[in-house]
Amino acid sequence: MLDHGFVRLDGAMADDLSVVNSARVSFGRRVDELSDADAGLIRFLMRERHGTPFEHNSFRFHVRCPLFVAREWFRHRVGSFNEFSMRYAKATDDFYVPEPDDVRTQVGKPGAYSFEPVHAELAQTTRDELRAVYEHAYETYERLVEQGVARELARAAIPVGAYTEFYWTVNARALMNFVSLRAAETAQREIRRYAEAVERLFAEKMPITHAAFVANDRTAP
Ligand SMILES: Cc1cc2nc3c(=O)[nH]c(=O)nc-3n(C[C@H](O)[C@H](O)[C@H](O)COP(=O)(O)OP(=O)(O)OC[C@H]3O[C@@H](n4cnc5c(N)ncnc54)[C@H](O)[C@@H]3O)c2cc1C
Repeated sequence: MLDHGFVRLDGAMADDLSVVNSARVSFGRRVDELSDADAGLIRFLMRERHGTPFEHNSFRFHVRCPLFVAREWFRHRVGSFNEFSMRYAKATDDFYVPEPDDVRTQVGKPGAYSFEPVHAELAQTTRDELRAVYEHAYETYERLVEQGVARELARAAIPVGAYTEFYWTVNARALMNFVSLRAAETAQREIRRYAEAVERLFAEKMPITHAAFVANDRTAP
């Protein structure tokens, strides 16, 4: 993802059957295989926003992304996070430099921006300026640490374009909420790429639930 990141599914306990069985326990019923009627039940639950049957599963993602993407991600409170610590370990020297096509300008009003490409010269200048700032920031950081300043303080020199790493464990209901908001056109392009990858991994594990989510205008139950 981007220039130095990734999303990988580190583990999962997730399938469409769990949605059906957790809904049908109300009637004391359980099945071992999905039928067409069960697929209809999943669509019904999604449409009517009966959300809890979508919570009996778990996805554990391992993510590497710029700090500003992580900051947006961590706003999603339903789920668990553990992140790389710049108190205990040396800061990464990987920084996000957008591809020329991803350097954009914003047009319009807050809440209704559209993003348009800039001309090639400005795209190159942006990339050069970012690289120069990153290099200076990282040199400053290393110098302070070498002189004995604690990592927890020296990290103040690190810009939000630096990469971080974390684990994120989440159930399908909260995951759909994340995808609904962060794979949308209104989301920032960088987190959107990650949300699209998360969505693909989700769709592989729970294809019927994913199809029902898409059919429900991508609204989480
Ligand atoms: C395009 C975009 C722009 C944004 N801009 C800003 C911004 O400018 N400033 C800013 O601060 N944030 C901003 N955010 C973050 C946004 O406000 C949410 O914090 C973030 O999207 C997490 O959404 P969530 O609360 O639905 O998810 P989660 O925290 O995962 O919660 C999932 C669901 O659980 C329920 N829930 C969780 N906690 C509570 C609670 N305390 N009370 C009631 N129900 C709860 C809600 O139904 C919620 O939808 C932006 C998000 C997006 C997508």
